[in-house]
Amino acid sequence: MFQRSPVETMYFENTMYYLKRDDLLHADFSGNKARKLAWLLEKAPLGVTRIVSYGSNQSNAMYSLSALARIKGWEFIYVCDHVPSYLKYNPIGNYAYALNNGMQLFVDSNRRERAMSFVQEATTLFIEEGGAQEEAAYGIKLLAKEIELWAYENKVEPSIFLPSGTGATALYLERYSSFDVFTCNCVGKPSYLEEQFRLLEPDERLWPTILPPPRTFHYGKPKQELYTLWKRLKQESDVEFDLVYDPVGWVSLLHHQERIPKPIMYIHQGGIKGNVSMLERYRYKGIAP
Ligand SMILES: *Cc1c(COP(=O)(O)O)cnc(C)c1O
Repeated sequence: MFQRSPVETMYFENTMYYLKRDDLLHADFSGNKARKLAWLLEKAPLGVTRIVSYGSNQSNAMYSLSALARIKGWEFIYVCDHVPSYLKYNPIGNYAYALNNGMQLFVDSNRRERAMSFVQEATTLFIEEGGAQEEAAYGIKLLAKEIELWAYENKVEPSIFLPSGTGATALYLERYSSFDVFTCNCVGKPSYLEEQFRLLEPDERLWPTILPPPRTFHYGKPKQELYTLWKRLKQESDVEFDLVYDPVGWVSLLHHQERIPKPIMYIHQGGIKGNVSMLERYRYKGIAP
């Protein structure tokens, strides 16, 4: 069902980058979470009528699951631990888009347990928070193969850079592609990312290289520096990046430029539908106009 996502060139601060536009993978089902959920799209067992998951009220995975359920004609049940009243009465971002796709939302402080309670026999599939489960490797492998094919056709040997949350995407890309993968920790310290790598791959030699941000950024927290860079990227390259991971990704990439053999391919992992809610937080902090 997926077409190959395009590869473009972009220039920033006098350096050329290849940009893998995974944000353009599909109109409704794109980016990192679509890759992680590709196994559901292409290999879901027959007879499935419902998917159940849990996580935060603005998660990219929540939105992607809602889009997938809609494409497949499945029921989608999702549990989060709270929905603030401003969001409930003025739905925006991934939350609004997911409800629009027919998501049935439940609020419970025991999110995972409550979600499990909706599982009925073989007709229900239970999806871990963020789509983080073994099957996610399937879609990341397809991404790695697309990059390999593109590189072969264009006679380029790129270094790959992408920002990490759990690090699963970076780790699987390193595993399934022949190119070196570089990443940065957007959640917690580099040691957190290493722990996540270790859960998936005990052999450290098979891990991506971590290039940590030059300063500590708290996950998802608005920062003037990050907003300024995000806007400059938009103005100078005409590409809208995600506001949660990409600014930290670019700060780290620019800081460690000389450690990454050129040319560099940056993976645009989508997440754009969440920008409206992030921009609202930036406005609330007085950073965005
Ligand atoms: C989930 C996500 C990531 C992080 O992916 P991991 O595999 O958890 O490292 C990065 N960017 C976007 C836009 C995402 O939705």
